[in-house]
Amino acid sequence: MTPPARLNSLAARDVAAVFHPYTDQIAHAENGPVVISRGNGVRVLDDAGKSYIDVVAGLWCAALGFSNERLVEAATRQMRALPFYHAFGSKSHEPMIELSEMLLARAPVPMSKVFFANSGSEANDSAIKMVWYYNNARGLHEKKKIIGRIKGYHGITLASASLTGLPYNHKSFDLPLPGFLHTMTPHFYHGALPGETEAEFATRCADELEKLILAEGPETVAALFAEPIMGAGGVLIPPAGYFPKIKAVLDKYDVLLVADEVICGFGRTGQYWGSQTMAVQPDILTCAKALSAAYLPISAVMVNDRVFGPIAEETHKLGTFGHGFTYSGHPVAAAVAVETLKIYDEMNMLDHVGDVGPYMQSELRRRFTDHPLVGEVRGTGLIAAIELVEDKAEHRNFDAGRKVGARTAKHMENLGVIGRALPGDGLAFSPPLIITKSEIDEVLDGVEKALAAITVDLRAEGFS
Ligand code: PMP
Repeated sequence: MTPPARLNSLAARDVAAVFHPYTDQIAHAENGPVVISRGNGVRVLDDAGKSYIDVVAGLWCAALGFSNERLVEAATRQMRALPFYHAFGSKSHEPMIELSEMLLARAPVPMSKVFFANSGSEANDSAIKMVWYYNNARGLHEKKKIIGRIKGYHGITLASASLTGLPYNHKSFDLPLPGFLHTMTPHFYHGALPGETEAEFATRCADELEKLILAEGPETVAALFAEPIMGAGGVLIPPAGYFPKIKAVLDKYDVLLVADEVICGFGRTGQYWGSQTMAVQPDILTCAKALSAAYLPISAVMVNDRVFGPIAEETHKLGTFGHGFTYSGHPVAAAVAVETLKIYDEMNMLDHVGDVGPYMQSELRRRFTDHPLVGEVRGTGLIAAIELVEDKAEHRNFDAGRKVGARTAKHMENLGVIGRALPGDGLAFSPPLIITKSEIDEVLDGVEKALAAITVDLRAEGFS
């Protein structure tokens, strides 16, 4: 593809060479990239020097912003001491040991061991394989089906994408693979029946799960994977009482619960784990992103005794656990993660989120609940979304083809706020955890102006 002549040289080189993830390749060739060159606190600067506040912390991950010197130093120190070693065949190193201890000490429920990977997708794929291995170890060779939820997001590798419940991760990829099932989305705003209470809705979600398990045969169902708060699917908060009701069903049929804390972990929801905020009692927990504040790729899978015990026995029979990445527990990434967790402790991260989180939530509600385009404002801690709708009374979304959310996010970007449109025209808020109240004000001023701009666009298109 020949890049359009109006693109500057870096943009033209990008268009000529880069196959972008999650991008319309043809529109990209026409419009070119936004090239980000530097970071400063919660802000990033593009190659023309324009400054933006990134209100989704990159991809929900840059929890300490974009210029933390301590993390740079931790990486440099570790690179000098030992730039690489692996963990296969009983090899180890101190950063991985220390990080495992720190994660176990912080886990929301008692956990036994920590396995490392490089991304959220790999952590979830690893967890799926552990679940299969666990049931083979128990002689339950049929018990392998994995349940996700419609609109859940667990990644893009073959198994984690199968588990993901969003159409664009399946369509044209020939996914999901067999053996992956999806149960209903616990989103009261769109999912409730007329007159249904939140508690009744939560019960119905659990009943639907039970029906699915019974229809498949409980002897074939191994695990449910769930984000405490669904992130990429729209920042969907489950109804009160949802997870305890789900857990009771899972326990009845000997089905494991895996908490995907890739977004919710490390203070995002106001507590250390989304599992604590949403009363999730996982057997396995996956995390990534804020684990290293995104400065280097690293993810982790924590397993409890119930799961680790049979797996350990099986590895002894087979002579090894035939799974692991070259970079599992990479020392430089692990050292950066250790430093990240220390910084969270030292800055009293939970206190800070406890201060700015409620401020962000109340300001979002104060400014936007009554806006004619806003159907729902939802969130807790430093994660939120506002959902744009065509009909506020009916909770009816715009036709997806009109791209109202994406166009609003583009207006935000022009106004100096990098945001993200989610499926169903949700605008995501998941800023670096270090954000201040005045930076939140600045973001929300930008969002107000962006909503005014999209309102003008929509009026021109006949929206009244
Ligand atoms: N799980 C959740 C909840 C996520 O939000 C994501 C990424 N947004 C993933 C898994 C996949 O992580 P990665 O992109 O690092 O593979």
